[in-house]
Amino acid sequence: MKTHLLLLLALGTIGLSSGFAATPTSTAELPSYTPDANAARAAIPAVYRWDLSPLFASDAACEQARLKLLADIAALAPYEGKLADPATLAACLELYFRLHRAANFLTLYANMRQSTARSDDAAAALSQRSLAAMDELMRAATFIRREVLALPAAAVAQQPALAPYRAYLDNLRRRASHVLSADGERALSLLGDNLWAEIDLDELPSGYEDAHSALLADIPWPKIKDATGQEVQLTLANYGRFRASPDPAVRRAAVQALFGTLRQYQHALAADFAGQMKLDVAYARARGYDTALAAYLDKDNVSPAVYDNLVRTVGAHTDLLHRYVELRKKTLGLSAVHLYDLYIPLVPGVEKDVPFAEARRIIPAALQPLGAEYGRVLATGLDPRNGWIDLYPHQDKQSGAFSSSVYGPHPFVFINYQNSLDDLSTLAHEFGHALHSHLAMTTQSYPDFRYVPFLAEIASTCNETLLSDYLVAHTSDRAEQAYLLVARLESIRTTIFRQAMFAEFERTAHQLVEAGTPVTATLLDEKYRELLRRYYGPGFTVDPDDGMEWAYVPHFYYKYYVYTYASGLTSGLAIADRVRTLGAPAVEAYLGMLRGGCAKPPLELLKGAGVDLTTPAPIEAAMKSFARTLDDVEKLLAK
Ligand SMILES: [Zn+2]
Repeated sequence: MKTHLLLLLALGTIGLSSGFAATPTSTAELPSYTPDANAARAAIPAVYRWDLSPLFASDAACEQARLKLLADIAALAPYEGKLADPATLAACLELYFRLHRAANFLTLYANMRQSTARSDDAAAALSQRSLAAMDELMRAATFIRREVLALPAAAVAQQPALAPYRAYLDNLRRRASHVLSADGERALSLLGDNLWAEIDLDELPSGYEDAHSALLADIPWPKIKDATGQEVQLTLANYGRFRASPDPAVRRAAVQALFGTLRQYQHALAADFAGQMKLDVAYARARGYDTALAAYLDKDNVSPAVYDNLVRTVGAHTDLLHRYVELRKKTLGLSAVHLYDLYIPLVPGVEKDVPFAEARRIIPAALQPLGAEYGRVLATGLDPRNGWIDLYPHQDKQSGAFSSSVYGPHPFVFINYQNSLDDLSTLAHEFGHALHSHLAMTTQSYPDFRYVPFLAEIASTCNETLLSDYLVAHTSDRAEQAYLLVARLESIRTTIFRQAMFAEFERTAHQLVEAGTPVTATLLDEKYRELLRRYYGPGFTVDPDDGMEWAYVPHFYYKYYVYTYASGLTSGLAIADRVRTLGAPAVEAYLGMLRGGCAKPPLELLKGAGVDLTTPAPIEAAMKSFARTLDDVEKLLAK
């Protein structure tokens, strides 16, 4: 999830296109095609490959645009030192955002080229050069932020020339009291402070994050026995597969081998982790924040009370998770539930073939509650003739799925569609992102269209929820119903419960540093095991090395990021619920949030959609949805 979102942010790809015009959807026959991961890209009918020409007609055109951008960046320099005059500031910002959009075209095009041609050196070079161009623009533009922050309020407030940049300027100046002197800023930027970085650059990993991934790569993982009794090398890449093995001996061996090995490196891992926590706290303190939590949430203009509310409210409903653990125990016939029993399917998979032609019928039907306008754009995007989608897997194509957009052309959706129910759900998810971008882009101007990470996973999970409701209601096959409902339980378990647990762990670790308590391997192990016990309950057995799991989770280096997974799904579920029960007014409110981009603070936009994350209500609603689904699954499995 993280990689996908970061990629979008790093490349400036979230957002969309004001010049978009709905293309009529033809009903003519499309070529039939059977997905084949080993096919050459050229073997896939062109209609099922995306059309990048709205960005650039060719790599050469992209390269030309890059050279032009690099030359144009010089036009920013004459503005330096002159931004106290509102008209000059407006002209400078106009130029800056024009260049920024041009840079986004480059990074998006290069990234998309690379995602379907991983071993193509030309695409890799294109990508590196385009990122370097974006980097160059950012460096050339740092004086803008510096000068805007130094302006007296009167120079910015109520200036008609600056009206198009109101939200941007307000958001920038919102944290002005946390800006240091020129010397202080220079020192922090040399240290790699990430509290003030522009959104496109702020995810450069710290040395601690690099060291963590290097350590995980260097650790010699042991061999384990697979289900046939063969010795196999455990790797971080195949760990997830072995952990979900139907053979209890295999999944136990995988988890014990991984955690047991991490245990041997626990002091190095803990020292590195503590280093990251100390760095976060140091940046926060240097900028005059009370806590690292307040500092990092302030980037998205979110108050620590929202975080605390989420952790507290989810934490108050762990009884539901205990019930789920008991259900797994009973259904799977286990004498005890261990960490390695959480990942095996509770019900058998459903061998249902959902060709893309079916998906094009099902997704619009399932999302029909979102109204006619949404439906029209969706139908346009789902028609492969319109060039939004890169549909099928092939040799050299990146795995996974994402949606990305740059202001102007239509959004793009990347997926490895192989006709399964899960692929159907992924497609609905990615179209949530795409439509969010489309609506924001067609409503807002460039400075205001890009939604922040905090709002990024709401439209996607709302779509998944509406799709799942629709599929459950339109099948009489109990096995399929059970499969769909269990998928929802798993999604809430892993995205709300587990991420809230991570969020609590992350907050605890920072608080230990803030209180001056040494963060040792023993203490981290103790805190993590305590969380496992509390979250999974009396039916769950915490094994001796389970407390090492924290060391396997790279997200703890993402600086208060994990909670957005939980808040995103919570909000998505709450909105789907409102759409279901309240109809049109809830839809209008929701679309208003999607159209809002970043023209208002995220919590305010979300509140406009009827979800107030400063209160427990939406989280309680998500918990109720989990409880209801648990009831349904228990009933289905009892039959
Ligand atoms: Zn997503």
